[in-house]
Amino acid sequence: MPPPRGGHFGPGFLTDEEKENKPKVTKELIKRIFSHLAPYKLRLGAVILCLLVSSVMSLLPSVLTGKIIDEGLIGQNMNALIFFIVLSLAVTFGANMIGVLESWLNSWIAQHITYDMRNKMYAHLQKMSMRFFTSSNQGDIITRMTSDISGVQQIITGTLTNIISNIITLVVAMVVMFGQSPILAFIGILIVPLFTIPTRSAGKTRWSITKESQECSDEINGILNETLSVSGQLLVKLFGMEKREYDRYEKVNHKMIDLNIREGMAGRWFRVALSTFSSIGPMLIYLAGGIIMMNFDDTLTVGDITVLVALLGRMYGPVNQLLNIQVDWIRSMAMFTRIFDYYDMPVEIEEKPDALTPADTDGTVEFRNVSFSYSEERQILGDVSFKLESGRSIAIVGPSGSGKSTLVNLIPRLYDVTGGEVLFGGNDVRDLSLSFLRGNIGIVSQETYLFNGTIRENLLYAKPDATDEELEEACRRANISDFVEKQEKGLDTVVGNRGLKLSGGEKQRISIARILLKDPALMIFDEATSALDSISEQKIQDAIEPLIATRTSILIAHRLSTVLAADEILVLKDGRIVERGTHSTLVKAGGVYTELYETQFSKALQKAGEIEKREE
Ligand code: ATP
Repeated sequence: MPPPRGGHFGPGFLTDEEKENKPKVTKELIKRIFSHLAPYKLRLGAVILCLLVSSVMSLLPSVLTGKIIDEGLIGQNMNALIFFIVLSLAVTFGANMIGVLESWLNSWIAQHITYDMRNKMYAHLQKMSMRFFTSSNQGDIITRMTSDISGVQQIITGTLTNIISNIITLVVAMVVMFGQSPILAFIGILIVPLFTIPTRSAGKTRWSITKESQECSDEINGILNETLSVSGQLLVKLFGMEKREYDRYEKVNHKMIDLNIREGMAGRWFRVALSTFSSIGPMLIYLAGGIIMMNFDDTLTVGDITVLVALLGRMYGPVNQLLNIQVDWIRSMAMFTRIFDYYDMPVEIEEKPDALTPADTDGTVEFRNVSFSYSEERQILGDVSFKLESGRSIAIVGPSGSGKSTLVNLIPRLYDVTGGEVLFGGNDVRDLSLSFLRGNIGIVSQETYLFNGTIRENLLYAKPDATDEELEEACRRANISDFVEKQEKGLDTVVGNRGLKLSGGEKQRISIARILLKDPALMIFDEATSALDSISEQKIQDAIEPLIATRTSILIAHRLSTVLAADEILVLKDGRIVERGTHSTLVKAGGVYTELYETQFSKALQKAGEIEKREE
């Protein structure tokens, strides 16, 4: 379970999980953390200096109180009284001003370090392979980018500054106390641990409530995420589950308010306990001080005793915070370890230092004995060889799961082959620069992804400097211009979250227009398996057919019309090419293709024929 939200790191207790997964703090880890601070060492030095000066200065008024009492009030010296009062105020003001400077410097450094770390993490994540994105939890990636790195900021502005300023305050306070009266200082220091008793026990109660309310709030978020998303609401509405979902939500919502009230009360009891305990300390010092002053040491003054009491009060906070530092420390280390784990993830698809960027490419593709597996347990492709000449087209057909999408993903190096080689324009794809390779390949994938923006913005993603004429031409050729023109805002129509405001067919045609703008040497069209109505299908067909006829293309085909448009057909089964040829030769062969034709393609045709007949 993650640490509770709010506050710095929450109360000073580690969860069981945190205790179990305590990070190993090695010299390397510390060195690495400091390497991120290194560019800012001058400013960090200035922060430490500010902390030192302001901590000492903020203790001075307590010492000056002694002078105000002894020399001003008891000594009845007006000048001394005014002098020490003004000095005390000036010192407090000065300490606060330095404190402001320190906070500014501190947050400047913290912000810049997190800025560097975020950029570094984002750049690294961009280099990660599709394998990483398909196998990691999206929430995890976002958490590392956001809360983990924000945690670093808190460590610098909170933990680090706290450690330094608390140590300085404690040391200075102790030195002054021992200077005033070693015996009283000793008594005072014996009392200090007492101060921490109420904090720790109240902390424990609050911690357990916070843990519960965290679980509760996770549950609430879960319900909201599930039921207030587009697909969630659709399900709720269609199954008439509004009442049930409301009851579920209301129940946890109620639990949450109970917990919040309990938490508030725990805070109240904590303050009662704290004020009781913190009034005992000064009383003990007054008592011991009085006994010493009256019986043993008449040089001890009222002012001295007041100073000791004041300083003792100032020690409570730092002692308490330092006692909790260990927890902050472990959490900070865990946070850095998690971030560094991400930095250290190897980049799977890497460009060679001497990668080729040819001036031009003819878009030819050749697979030579290619094999591939996502994981060691199961081979997905085996011994795949074929050659696609420039300007020609190949259709890949095969049962679902036979490895068609996997095969085409190897061309732009979304994954690397595990055996054999893939050539693009005559070069092994692993020798080419990634920007060259991917810049010359256009993929219309099954799952069309559109960003939440306008149609224009989505199209410009392929060619940022495209003119309006080019955009319109691409839309016309992709058979989407009718739709665009019908929209009130035309190209500036917003497509909605992931393009949800558009139909499947419209999205596909926009993505075809996007590829047309990119104008790649090789086009890959992964036909959607999901059913589109025959009009949409026809529109897409009309858009891609001229494309296939004029450029090098690979089609993953699920419909006969697409298969027929290609020059050659490869039949894939269990990751192997089992047949190849033209439609007529393959149908006659009576193999896998014939079976596919009979089960998939011709049935669809038959159905369409029947529907038409019925309509007539
Ligand atoms: P369909 O026609 O249904 O789209 P396909 O022929 O394109 O199927 P692929 O998507 O290439 O098939 O999948 C081939 C096999 O690889 C499937 O068994 C699938 O479970 C597996 N697979 C696909 N993607 C991954 C992945 N990222 N990690 C692990 N296994 C995967």
